[in-house]
Amino acid sequence: MLTIKRVATVVSNYQEDEIVKGSLGCGRRCLSSCCLPVSKLPLYLFKKDGDLPIENGVVESYEDVSEISFLHNLLLGQWDDRMNRGLFRYDVSSCETKIIPGQHGFIAQLNEGRHTKKRPTEFRIDQVLQPFDENKFNFKKIGQEEVLFMVEQSIDHKSHFVVNAPIDKISPSPNVVAINVSPIEYGHVLLIPRVLDCFPQRIDHESFQLAMHMAKEAADPFFRLGYNSLGAFATINHLHFQAYYLAAPFPVEKAEKQIIAVDKGQSPQGVSVSELLNYPVRALVFEGGRSIRDLSDTVANSLVFLQNNDIPFNVLISDCGKKIYLFPQCFAERQALGKVSQEILKAQVNPAVWEICGHLVLKNRVDFDEACEAYAWKLLAEVSLSEERFQEVKAYVLEAAGLCEVDVENNYMIIGELVQNYEPTTPQVTAPQLPPDCLVQQ
Ligand SMILES: [Zn+2]
Repeated sequence: MLTIKRVATVVSNYQEDEIVKGSLGCGRRCLSSCCLPVSKLPLYLFKKDGDLPIENGVVESYEDVSEISFLHNLLLGQWDDRMNRGLFRYDVSSCETKIIPGQHGFIAQLNEGRHTKKRPTEFRIDQVLQPFDENKFNFKKIGQEEVLFMVEQSIDHKSHFVVNAPIDKISPSPNVVAINVSPIEYGHVLLIPRVLDCFPQRIDHESFQLAMHMAKEAADPFFRLGYNSLGAFATINHLHFQAYYLAAPFPVEKAEKQIIAVDKGQSPQGVSVSELLNYPVRALVFEGGRSIRDLSDTVANSLVFLQNNDIPFNVLISDCGKKIYLFPQCFAERQALGKVSQEILKAQVNPAVWEICGHLVLKNRVDFDEACEAYAWKLLAEVSLSEERFQEVKAYVLEAAGLCEVDVENNYMIIGELVQNYEPTTPQVTAPQLPPDCLVQQ
């Protein structure tokens, strides 16, 4: 059995409670079946896939829909409210951030507040699927004040918002969006699908599609969702995605890529897959499709294959759900086998999805001050599968997704579309460059 010791990041203020309380009438306004079904929470309903909104019988184009930014405002407004109520463990806006000089523009953040005094927990890293354990920390134990809102699919053709929705009338097991009390950026939240169903950390088609809908309706390319499988630095075995605003492109979003596969089935959906070029972590990028569902299901097929075959992975949902980055990874395995260099390990960076995408959260001042591109590259290179293994995994992934490799001789290059005026700045400085209805109210 391969295991690794890891200090779990504290994502909820209830995580460090050592006392496990009874499951009935706990009086804490928690997310368990004792309190949740009898509570009311704000509710956001997103449009059904492929639906155009209908206003007075007139179908509007997607561009005109005023509700699109509603989710954005809701999320950040609620997040700010929780910050004012002092629910976070530290003020993330005071964390220093810098762009590491060099070609790729890796972003380093000094985050001393994420430290925890907890004893490290031992994780199995050779099993991507592990059963849900009621006795370990899970999101049913968090308080309702950490929840920003519930999110469900609308039954009509529009998005809706209900300030105080009775949960028992909405769903026996709602999808909730909660704060991460150890944020690494502005608006850092957790999306927890069907919280009472106690899903372990594993992808299913419906949950992945929910994350895609959230990316689309937030309608801001600076808002991304991420997923870490077990064995790839997920530290809580209760299904969740993370998301936050970073007012800059991630280095991975600027990396060049090359189309390697398309769907050529009976009824092609226009999904394509590219391979990243000149990036330290080998990765696949999925895009296209006629609807969210086309792209979402194609990716989910691949992810389900990976987890069923114990291949740990990280996923970034980028560009409002139009691009999905998939990183099969082997850092934890290499670490457990003693193959990662001490130089890399001493900074204790956990290369989860955000780090892999180029946003490095460093725990101490020396590493932050000395961070250089060569270090970032070396760290991320330890995450990547070898070329040989990557080609093997790629073939499986494409088969699971029902895609055919294209003739790379006749290839063409796609340059990242987000590369624009990328200035090294702290969040405070970037704020004025944002669209007027946008984030970072500090
Ligand atoms: Zn309760």
